[in-house]
Amino acid sequence: MTDRSTAPRVIFLGGLGRSGTTLLERLLGQLPEVAPLGEVVHLWERGVLADEPCGCGRPFTTCPFWRGVGERAFGGWTSMLAERVMALRHRVDRTRRLARIAHEDLPEYVRAYRRVYQAAADAAQARTVIDSSKHASLAYCLLEAGVNVHIVQVVREPRAVAHSWRRTVARPEDGRPMTRWGPARTAVHWTAQNLALELLAVRGAPVTRVRYEDLLTTPHDTLTNLAQDLGFTAPRLPFLQGTTAYLTTAHTASGNPMRFTAGAVELARDDSWLRGLPRHHRGLVAALTWPLRARYGYGRDTA
Ligand SMILES: [Zn+2]
Repeated sequence: MTDRSTAPRVIFLGGLGRSGTTLLERLLGQLPEVAPLGEVVHLWERGVLADEPCGCGRPFTTCPFWRGVGERAFGGWTSMLAERVMALRHRVDRTRRLARIAHEDLPEYVRAYRRVYQAAADAAQARTVIDSSKHASLAYCLLEAGVNVHIVQVVREPRAVAHSWRRTVARPEDGRPMTRWGPARTAVHWTAQNLALELLAVRGAPVTRVRYEDLLTTPHDTLTNLAQDLGFTAPRLPFLQGTTAYLTTAHTASGNPMRFTAGAVELARDDSWLRGLPRHHRGLVAALTWPLRARYGYGRDTA
């Protein structure tokens, strides 16, 4: 069992995919004593079983960081372990179970995450780890089981998110196309994930909301405010100069293709949805995401 007194704090990045969680994870991961881990929820299948590459470019099982984490946490990664955690996930970590997340298998499921977080923090000599798994249901599981977690809800203009989900993008891991969704499906999931994260705040969990657009247009102020909310006193951001971020390699187990990027990254708003998303899709997404969209400050045609 993990010693709670030394257990790392977990920053959990929540929101719908294509909302900027990977970029935010990379930026927060530049803070001292913070270890960004990628989407730990997918580590079991995509890392342990499929041996997809870590953010450092090496296959998961040959990345020295993740190999060390596996040995510390479980005496090594095995397919039996990964399949067990995936089976537990299927039973307890589901969006439709949010109202009754307590389950006899919850402690065993969360124990696997605790061990990954602890071993990763030890290996990286970090006090804080970032899990950008995004799904609100995993945040519910971690909180219910008493993990020290602070949730960051990342929101993005839903019409921009819908535009992103329509596009054909190849996965760098295997060249296959990333999942595509239509506008109605994106809108429904956008609302469901954000409502679920809002409900966590209502229930008293620490939740800080960040708009992706603010991160891109005023990165220094947005990150400084967020870091202070997360308990970093007088955070310094030397990796950020104007709207250019200088990123070092991160050992992220899974996530958006942006996790492989290192070096200078220009932070710029992507408003291509204004031209690229058909008018009837825009109207559909706008209608389906009301009134949450307005609550987050996304008006008629501006983000
Ligand atoms: Zn690595």
